[in-house]
Amino acid sequence: VAAVHVIGGGLAGSEAAWQLARRGVPVILHEMRPVRATDAHKTDRLAELVCSNSFRSDDAMGNAVGLLHEEMRRLGSLVMAMGDRHKLPAGGALAVDREAFATAVTRTLEDEPLVTIRREEVTALPPADWGLAIVATGPLTSPALAEDIRRKGGEEHLAFFDAIAPIVHRETIDMEVAWFQSRYDKAGPGGGGADYINCPLDREQYEAFVDALLSAEKAEFKDWEKSTPYFEGCLPIEVMAERGRDTLRFGPMKPVGLTDPRTGRRPWAVVQLRQDNALGTLFNMVGFQTKLRHGEQVRVFRMIPGLEHAQFARLGGLHRNTFINSPRLLDGTLRLKAAPHIRFAGQVTGCEGYVESAAVGLLAGLFTAAQARGERPMPPPPETAHGALLAHITGGADAATFQPMNVNFGLFPPPPEGTPRHERKPALARRALAALDAWSLACGNPRMAACQSAE
Ligand code: FAD
Repeated sequence: VAAVHVIGGGLAGSEAAWQLARRGVPVILHEMRPVRATDAHKTDRLAELVCSNSFRSDDAMGNAVGLLHEEMRRLGSLVMAMGDRHKLPAGGALAVDREAFATAVTRTLEDEPLVTIRREEVTALPPADWGLAIVATGPLTSPALAEDIRRKGGEEHLAFFDAIAPIVHRETIDMEVAWFQSRYDKAGPGGGGADYINCPLDREQYEAFVDALLSAEKAEFKDWEKSTPYFEGCLPIEVMAERGRDTLRFGPMKPVGLTDPRTGRRPWAVVQLRQDNALGTLFNMVGFQTKLRHGEQVRVFRMIPGLEHAQFARLGGLHRNTFINSPRLLDGTLRLKAAPHIRFAGQVTGCEGYVESAAVGLLAGLFTAAQARGERPMPPPPETAHGALLAHITGGADAATFQPMNVNFGLFPPPPEGTPRHERKPALARRALAALDAWSLACGNPRMAACQSAE
């Protein structure tokens, strides 16, 4: 079997290399550190955690990232095996000793005879004569490679900054207060003229909301992020509020073309939410990208009528983050449609977080290994956490407004009608693990086999 080139030895690239090697496929792993640094990494180790040392919740039955942990363990993940081996006390979360973790991942891959590690920057997308390749260069992809991706993928399909508006679970919006209507009842792609959920604010509520935005605690930009100017089209909501008390009312909160069915009148201001996934379970707050701290976002956004009990699938943010428009550019097994010998993996695909990046790396490794061995790659079922995340980034998300996404239960097909609220997450988790085991068996991945060999 010819060697597969994996570019980037972060969370995703390390996991992909491991999965390939466990299946007998040789790997050449290109990692540019320490020859060339990024703005956030501090060491030359593979799978370095650039900020927090937490893999977030480890609760497989109550949290989608905990479920993703468990699925990865069952698929023999190197990142999870080393995370578990070097875990630190952190309540229900999985926190790891970052030094020991990255050292263990590095050593395991250095000791793996099928993996060759080359410390060099790859400055262009791999040509077809390299054979199969995986690009896993992360949110801080080097400028030369990013430029080449932009040139070949289309300028508008690579972003250098995310502008994340919060996403709300549809079922937690109070539809006794909010209503469906498009501005001026214009028909959208659904044809109905009622594609948006609207939350009305009267004058007093609007003034209180602006005050809360102005006084809320904000997260700081990192020094190296400050040089990147805001795009005028995606200013943080609190920066807009600073420009004048009515700026929002004439911007993203403008009420024109909307009539509150309960009063028969146009409200003073409106927050609009737009469907965010094909399943219709998630809605994003239009124009509400923000640098408010997460706790503050929950507090302030729950002041909006109709969102008093909102549960957020994702909170807003604005960071330097290189990512491609995966729903447009990639097929269902992460291949670049325009150059199908290349797969993308990790945060550059528009997933968000250490664990999600490693999980998408794991899938890219499995798919590429199958292809290298002349088998047909099989995507995991959408009922699994891996399948839900993959389906979202490769097609379920709206390509026109695509922004990075953490794994969350809103991405899963809903549980059977009538499942009691407190049973929904465990029901989704049980269904996911059963579907994962069946899929894994069908792909010839005996449960835990690869993980045991990492011990
Ligand atoms: P990375 O882990 O960044 O790996 C990419 C690798 O590719 C790097 O080692 C890089 O050196 C290498 N590389 C880049 N370009 C080239 C090239 N041209 N040739 C060869 N090698 C190259 N997520 C969390 O869950 N928790 C957090 O606290 C968190 N904090 C973050 C803080 C910052 C500042 C950033 C930027 C991101 C943060 N993330 C966080 C998001 C994300 O989960 C991590 O960045 C994660 O490391 C992404 O995994 P990855 O494998 O896709 O990329």
